Amino acid sequence: MDLDIDTVRVARTRADCVLRPGEAFLGGGTFLYSEPLHAGVTGLVDLTGLGWEPWSVDESGLRVAGTCTLVELVAGPGALGAQGPYRGLGIVRDCVSALSLSAKVARTATVGGNLALGLPAGSMIGLFAALGARAVVWTPDGGSREVAVARLVTAAGVVALEPGEVLREVRVPAAVLGQRTVFRRASLTPTGRTAAMVTGRADERGPRIVVTASVSAPHGLDARDHDMLDRWLDRIGSTVGWFEDTHGTADWRGAMTRRLAHEALDELGGAA
Ligand SMILES: Cc1cc2nc3c(=O)[nH]c(=O)nc-3n(C[C@H](O)[C@H](O)[C@H](O)COP(=O)(O)OP(=O)(O)OC[C@H]3O[C@@H](n4cnc5c(N)ncnc54)[C@H](O)[C@@H]3O)c2cc1C
Repeated sequence: MDLDIDTVRVARTRADCVLRPGEAFLGGGTFLYSEPLHAGVTGLVDLTGLGWEPWSVDESGLRVAGTCTLVELVAGPGALGAQGPYRGLGIVRDCVSALSLSAKVARTATVGGNLALGLPAGSMIGLFAALGARAVVWTPDGGSREVAVARLVTAAGVVALEPGEVLREVRVPAAVLGQRTVFRRASLTPTGRTAAMVTGRADERGPRIVVTASVSAPHGLDARDHDMLDRWLDRIGSTVGWFEDTHGTADWRGAMTRRLAHEALDELGGAA
């Protein structure tokens, strides 16, 4: 790796997060240190120095810090989620496993970095979108705003974060934690990059299905039945189109998504 930068500042306070010209945020660095930096980036501001608690759960729900590593996510919320009051978190481990990361990379890669990259195969997007999470974003003027994770990614690699905005944390409402969730995934090879991912959750209104990886940005549907699901998938195919890259053709991804989405709806108890 040839990293051509002049400075790395470790942020200790919120004031340190105000970017100077040429600076970009650094999470775990697993992407930043593996790809050429954007033109004009001459310095990095390391967010891991802020010392945020990786995750916490209380009566308002689950909070996961932007700097929470994927290993911490699995060991914490992921371990809560087998059944009972936290059964909704049963898909955490699956969603982390859906990333084509080695154990070494997963120890460093952060939830915030995965969300901020907005890659179609960014499985933290499908996870937190299915959990109805909201992202808390620190704005450079010292304020903050919230955005639904389902709306955070607007196109492949494009996120609704303005320059200088920090993804502080994601919040999952308490009511969701005990709800049933589902996970399905397809890739060309068992350890390959995720090409289609379907996550979902059943609440009092019925099942909600979220499609990622086979589309450039997440799509979600309150799916009452399989016919409705089919019509929605048809519409995605004919309007937005299925994502295509070296990890799968558009047609194959569309077909896999359909299969996985119907399986997911069956599991969540959608009407036939
Ligand atoms: C071998 C390998 C396999 C990978 N496989 C996958 C995969 O299957 N799917 C996938 O999606 N990605 C994959 N990646 C890309 C990347 O490693 C992961 O998305 C990871 O989660 C990024 O997290 P990070 O903390 O390392 O981000 P960094 O590299 O530190 O940063 C990534 C981007 O996010 C910004 N950023 C980081 N944290 C914040 C924050 N809190 N607020 C605002 N902006 C922030 C940075 O400025 C940068 O633009 C892979 C990488 C490697 C090296």
